[in-house]
Amino acid sequence: MDKLSHAYIVSSVSAQLSRKKALELASRMLCSGTGEKPCGACRDCKKIAAGVHPDVSVVSRLADDGGKKRDIQVDRIRQMSADAAILPNEASGKVYIIEEAETMNESAQNAALKLFEEPPRGVSFILCTENPEKLLPTVRSRCALLHCNCEEDKFDESISALADGYITRVLDGNRARLFEWTTENSELEARKLPDFLNCVKDKLVQMLRYTDAKASIMENIRLIDRCLEYQTVNTSVKHIFGLLAVRSLPTKEMRKKVD
Ligand SMILES: [Zn+2]
Repeated sequence: MDKLSHAYIVSSVSAQLSRKKALELASRMLCSGTGEKPCGACRDCKKIAAGVHPDVSVVSRLADDGGKKRDIQVDRIRQMSADAAILPNEASGKVYIIEEAETMNESAQNAALKLFEEPPRGVSFILCTENPEKLLPTVRSRCALLHCNCEEDKFDESISALADGYITRVLDGNRARLFEWTTENSELEARKLPDFLNCVKDKLVQMLRYTDAKASIMENIRLIDRCLEYQTVNTSVKHIFGLLAVRSLPTKEMRKKVD
């Protein structure tokens, strides 16, 4: 994550951890210190850590009269949108952290789409969720995904290497080598599968920015989204890797259609 995006999904196993990550990310975005960001020492970093920065807003579910939490409705998003159009109070930009983002109902998510895609200058959004698959695909495709591996509270390097291995074979376009790779790696532990898929997706989304092969990468992102859906209903790792082996590269017929 070198260049900052203006819309992120922070995915982790708990709301607390997502919030912590979101605040770290907000500090990186708004830090006014010199040198490495976040510095942790400037006015902006300190206020964010204390939860009192006027340019960092947290959007959460409201409780109704009975104390039951309601979904995030479209009026809340419109309110956020109107607020985002106002210049920041003191920082270089504004950050909106949406907690339990998957509770935005469909019209709320649709209302937010344009905002995530083309926010006002200096405005960023961080969507926290325990389950990014519950967000609309159109929302997911506009956000960079940060998946927190929560046991160690840091990203698993081996997963990143595995994701690179898969992407290299896909870009290579050699079906036999891709088969070989999926067979070799289909023993991956089931609990690591979502991390692997999310990591592949994140890398593909990043690649979209500097590639000419946008259509085929979008095709692969859709495939990974499907795998992410399947794994939520306990599809085995072997089946998912089988699907990756068969569907990651366009078949001859599909290629003809494109040409
Ligand atoms: Zn700072």
